[in-house]
Amino acid sequence: GSAAATKVQRNPSFSMLNSDDINYFKGILGDKNVIQDEDRLLTSNTDWMNKYRGSSKLLLLPRSTEEVSQILNYCNSRSLAVVPQGGNTGLVGGSVPVYDEVIINVGLMNSIISFDKVSGILVCEAGCILENLITFLDTQGFVMPLDLGAKGSCQIGGNVSTNAGGLRLVRYGSLHGNILGIEAVLANGDVLDMLGTLRKDNTGYDLKHLFIGSEGSLGIVTKVSILTPPKLSSVNLAFLACKDYFSCQKLLVEAKRKLGEILSAFEFLDNVAMDLALNHLEGVRNPLPPSLHNFYVLIETTGSNESSDKEKLEAFLLQAMEVGLISDGALSQDINQASSFWRLREGLPEALQKSGAVYKYDLSIPVEKMYDLVEEMRARLGAPTKVVAYGHLGDGNLHLNISAPQYDEKILAQIEPFVYEWTSKRRGSISAEHGLGLMKANEIFYSKSKNTVQLMGSIKKLLDPNGILNPYKVLPHSLSR
Ligand code: FAD
Repeated sequence: GSAAATKVQRNPSFSMLNSDDINYFKGILGDKNVIQDEDRLLTSNTDWMNKYRGSSKLLLLPRSTEEVSQILNYCNSRSLAVVPQGGNTGLVGGSVPVYDEVIINVGLMNSIISFDKVSGILVCEAGCILENLITFLDTQGFVMPLDLGAKGSCQIGGNVSTNAGGLRLVRYGSLHGNILGIEAVLANGDVLDMLGTLRKDNTGYDLKHLFIGSEGSLGIVTKVSILTPPKLSSVNLAFLACKDYFSCQKLLVEAKRKLGEILSAFEFLDNVAMDLALNHLEGVRNPLPPSLHNFYVLIETTGSNESSDKEKLEAFLLQAMEVGLISDGALSQDINQASSFWRLREGLPEALQKSGAVYKYDLSIPVEKMYDLVEEMRARLGAPTKVVAYGHLGDGNLHLNISAPQYDEKILAQIEPFVYEWTSKRRGSISAEHGLGLMKANEIFYSKSKNTVQLMGSIKKLLDPNGILNPYKVLPHSLSR
């Protein structure tokens, strides 16, 4: 197990994998989709940040819901623990085994089942890669209501299971609104068909919501239906500099008011994040002339009328410039320039990954207090760490990253529990969008009350009585036995 995993003991009630198990899986999936190859397993055992590593000896690649059901039914009867894995881009150690859990990846289940051009409703299998869905929808004249930097690898099943937020949430809202239906397989192999394609359906408890954001702890998501908005013809992107955090905040309030329905993204990064991007991302440059800017903001508008949208945005920017909220700015002139602006923001996780060890915190904090935490953390830590801040300012979501030469218990002790206590005191969330995974399973009480966590535990027990689904994650370890 990884360093983080040593805090939790392997649950002795789980069986150890034997050759009969392997043969059984081969009988269902065929030899090819029962992976024991050490190199393939090393990749699946290791998380995106290279921070968590499990020791699984088996990766299963089912091709259908029926196969997922048969595998889970067997694992449940044998008490074999499993970890559902998608694109393995998760950032809280949730997608890799802690010990020897069997890895189940639905990546081969990657078909689009249907698309309705009238309603914009897409039904697909859970293993579809987000970027492929984005590309498909583009050919149909629609867009995905979800976009994020990991789109080239993450799967829609993983997105749903983490309730991923991303770059367009400010406009289209969360997956709790956009996912209309789910098919999921429970630990005992039962298939739950909740694959509705209706916007309105008040027939009792809406159980699909339990699976959105449950991080593989309640079932394996096998199919989803998603409401997608039409693609609008006019997209504008501005890359702006602000002298201080207060100006960024003011700019957000003004943008919401003045740009209204065309505002589709409002992202920010500080100058430490900018330096990091420039140092570690190939071909990335600052769109603005070199100057000592402290903050940068990306504002995107999406609308249906080229000239009026542009006019609206330009008027807004001019006014913001006049009152000093913006100190400099550039408007993208074409699609290439727009993607280079986005690359800067979307490449930040990668830049951090390249620069050494990174402690990642993904917090919801009232916007006006958000940057106080960054400054306090800087004062607390000092060299050789770098405190890097960026995030979805439009949603009150800060990505606070502490970059260090290597993982070091002393640094960690300076950060935690301080960061959680700070956030909890302001009634923020210790996980705005990445989930709890292994990293924050025991920290849940900073954001959820005792009774709420207890009920979560009861639901888990009901759906997965043997606790085989993604053990040691999400729920506090005291509750998960
Ligand atoms: P994985 O990482 O494989 O799994 C994540 C969790 O979901 C695990 O607990 C796993 O067990 C579970 N899971 C996966 N598939 C299934 C399934 N079919 N059924 C049940 N459980 C399943 N997140 C955001 O919210 N917003 C962002 O803007 C954002 N940007 C990112 C940028 C980068 C560069 C990276 C590396 C990550 C980013 N993330 C972001 C993290 C985000 O959680 C993941 O990118 C994504 O949603 C996870 O999808 P995945 O397929 O990689 O799932």
